[in-house]
Amino acid sequence: MITSFKNKRVSKEPGHYDSFFLHSGEEGIQTFNEQVDLVKEKLLTVFERADQPFKGSTTEEIKKELLPIMKLSGETKPFQEVLDEIGEAVLSNSLHVSHKKSIAHLHCPPLLTGVVAELMIGALNQSMDSWDQSPSATFVEEELIKSLAEYARMPETADGVFTSGGTQSNYMGLLMARDAFCQTYWNHNVQKSGLPQDLGRMRIICAEEAHFTVKKSASQLGLGEQAVVTVPTDGNHRMCIKSFEKIIHRLEQKNLLPFCVVATCGTTDYGSIDPLSELAEICQRKDLWLHIDAAYGGALLFSHSHYQKVEGMQQADSIGLDFHKLCYQPISCGLLLIKDRKHFQWLSLHADYLNPVKDEQEGIVNLVNKSVQTTRRFDALKVLLTLKTLGTDLLGSMIDTTMELAEFAVQYLKEKPEFTVENQHPELNTVVFQYQAESSENLCELNRQIQQVLYQKGKAVIAKTSVRGSTYLKFTLLNPRTTREDLKEVIEEIERTGKSIMNGGHRD
Ligand SMILES: *Cc1c(COP(=O)(O)O)cnc(C)c1O
Repeated sequence: MITSFKNKRVSKEPGHYDSFFLHSGEEGIQTFNEQVDLVKEKLLTVFERADQPFKGSTTEEIKKELLPIMKLSGETKPFQEVLDEIGEAVLSNSLHVSHKKSIAHLHCPPLLTGVVAELMIGALNQSMDSWDQSPSATFVEEELIKSLAEYARMPETADGVFTSGGTQSNYMGLLMARDAFCQTYWNHNVQKSGLPQDLGRMRIICAEEAHFTVKKSASQLGLGEQAVVTVPTDGNHRMCIKSFEKIIHRLEQKNLLPFCVVATCGTTDYGSIDPLSELAEICQRKDLWLHIDAAYGGALLFSHSHYQKVEGMQQADSIGLDFHKLCYQPISCGLLLIKDRKHFQWLSLHADYLNPVKDEQEGIVNLVNKSVQTTRRFDALKVLLTLKTLGTDLLGSMIDTTMELAEFAVQYLKEKPEFTVENQHPELNTVVFQYQAESSENLCELNRQIQQVLYQKGKAVIAKTSVRGSTYLKFTLLNPRTTREDLKEVIEEIERTGKSIMNGGHRD
């Protein structure tokens, strides 16, 4: 059916395409102006009306509204018409992540500097794979990484690359750890020769509460999920060092090969931070690769009152940090930093058309050498525009504000007998708790329903997670505009909803 929407070809007169691209000619500029104005207007109406984080439509309603507009055709239409058609259905049924009561996931309100940077990124459309496709952009990314590595107090040899996020940063960190180990231990080059025979003995160690992408990466890297050994966590959901040492010892006795430790700086659920300095010390002593998954907590580097929590991070062999979480950038924007730039060799392959060896000899920088991606976005521009406009101090204050809000949430919930808080000393800004009305027999179901009812009503978007097999509720307080009053209202709404569910489950 691929040809079903194909109509006759349109005219190929010279200049006929001019109003569809941005270029030095008047047609392009005029259309650009008009379309940006229309989009601006449309977005403004959507945001003006967004008095709650979600409109509350059901899945069925959304599908029904969207399906008719998904039809493609051969016909050219006025942009405004299409925008009107799409605007209502798509924009108004979106989750308003910038709303103060959208506090579910690690999904941030984007800073305006990031939003407008996206316009520039799209309009310029630089591709970060080779210098000739992104001359100034390559320089900006490289210099920004130098500054960020310095900010993170990493050594002179440090380097990095922007990634699509924590998933890719974890994958790349583990890939380098695997290849560096195989080279030193067996003198085996995975890149050239594939996986070594004894690969099945290699082990990655992380806490039970590490991100699922550690296992996923291990499986994609040919090590299999079996290669990931998890360490129990303590009462504060941090990796337990004693158990860690025992596990290393046990693995060595079994003639297995632990080669990499993944420490988490800010777990997704509790924002807990593994003991980074202690782990760094042991890794150094035992010659283990230390990868720190700081997708969430790496932002504390900018904090004024909490930066000491990331002490030890500078000793890592690789660090993943997401700017699209606690640094308020639009998706996607991740960073991988590595202690020694030589390890980028495990990713580099010379293609004659893109990054020939001769370029390297002449000092031409082609960033494809540092990435698992080829064509890649100029995400560094968002970070540059943001850090320069806001300054690192204001960004730090924003982060600190959200940490205070999390403290407040814990205290406020603790005063109420019908709530139990799981993480009473949040290291970041998530709060995990359960509504425990005395008369309820099935707390799991009750909490699950509370979360769902709130979402369907759209008044507050909160998350749920599982704690020792039971469903708990979760706030992820990324938005520095969210006030204590907002939180009190959300908590009241939870109480009201909980009571009404118990009184027969009516939903209003
Ligand atoms: C979000 C997150 C990831 C995954 O990162 P993406 O940017 O979603 O790819 C990995 N680890 C932690 C701790 C995270 O919070």
